[in-house]
Amino acid sequence: MALLGVDIGGTKIAIGLASDSGELLQQERFLVSDTQTPEKTLDRVAEIAKTLAKQREDFGQVGICSPGPFHNGKLSNPANLPGWDGVDIAQSLSSRLGRPAYLQNDANAAAVGEWLFGQGKGTKHMAYVTVSTGVGAGLVLNGTPYGGPHGNAAELGHVVIDVNGPQCNCGLTGCLEALASGTAIGRSGRQRAASSAFLRSLHDEGIGAKEVLDGWKAGDAVCSEIVETAARHLGHGLGILVNLVNPERIALGGGVMNAGAPLLDRIRHWTQFYSMPTLFGETDLRLSSLGDSTGLMGAIAVAMVGDGGKK
Ligand SMILES: [Zn+2]
Repeated sequence: MALLGVDIGGTKIAIGLASDSGELLQQERFLVSDTQTPEKTLDRVAEIAKTLAKQREDFGQVGICSPGPFHNGKLSNPANLPGWDGVDIAQSLSSRLGRPAYLQNDANAAAVGEWLFGQGKGTKHMAYVTVSTGVGAGLVLNGTPYGGPHGNAAELGHVVIDVNGPQCNCGLTGCLEALASGTAIGRSGRQRAASSAFLRSLHDEGIGAKEVLDGWKAGDAVCSEIVETAARHLGHGLGILVNLVNPERIALGGGVMNAGAPLLDRIRHWTQFYSMPTLFGETDLRLSSLGDSTGLMGAIAVAMVGDGGKK
């Protein structure tokens, strides 16, 4: 029977119907701002899902990904979904649709998607790391998605890399996310724009991670220093991951990784520097292959593995 994936983001929601082997058959999107409350948003999701089932193919299980954190299945003060505190998305959708529904946070769902459909295929132990507005990670261990007791595991973005580093949204200083996310790279670019031949000509508000990465590719010295520093911090974080988990593979995704193989090479260099040699030698770092469909394919993967997830 077909599967339904629901990707709930801070700004938009995607709903996808997939075959039982995970092939995407049809998808619909709408903006969170089109609906007023979580209840109305979930009503809209259910309405679209029922239409898809009627028009195309009925589905048996529902997989959902959303920003966390969770406690006992309910959202617990989610920074990216204001107004959704205490909402049990899986239960709400399950009762609206009369089907079992399973929930994972976005990074953990992306890891399951990458494991079943992307760069993690064929592995038993892998990690997915996203470098985007923030930094997040998800794990599959022993052939099972690993979320910890409440689904919040693998918060690599909030591992402290530099105790004297910049303030992070979580309240600590020097978290990996505060040092090497797209937000952090863009901020460094704006701070140092005056001394960069490449960035100087741009307006401050026009400088984000993409511009800094473009400057790096064009050979600008300041941009190169910013990107190399971010790659070093990311390698430091990944080195911790390698030593702790010994994954066979790490797939890297998110907007910053659109810079591609040259950036992956620098991150790999620093991961090696910060890992134990034997463990690094057993880890294969790759770029995510799911790209823009990571969220929806993650949700569909969550529907596929359901409760257990042993493959
Ligand atoms: Zn933090």
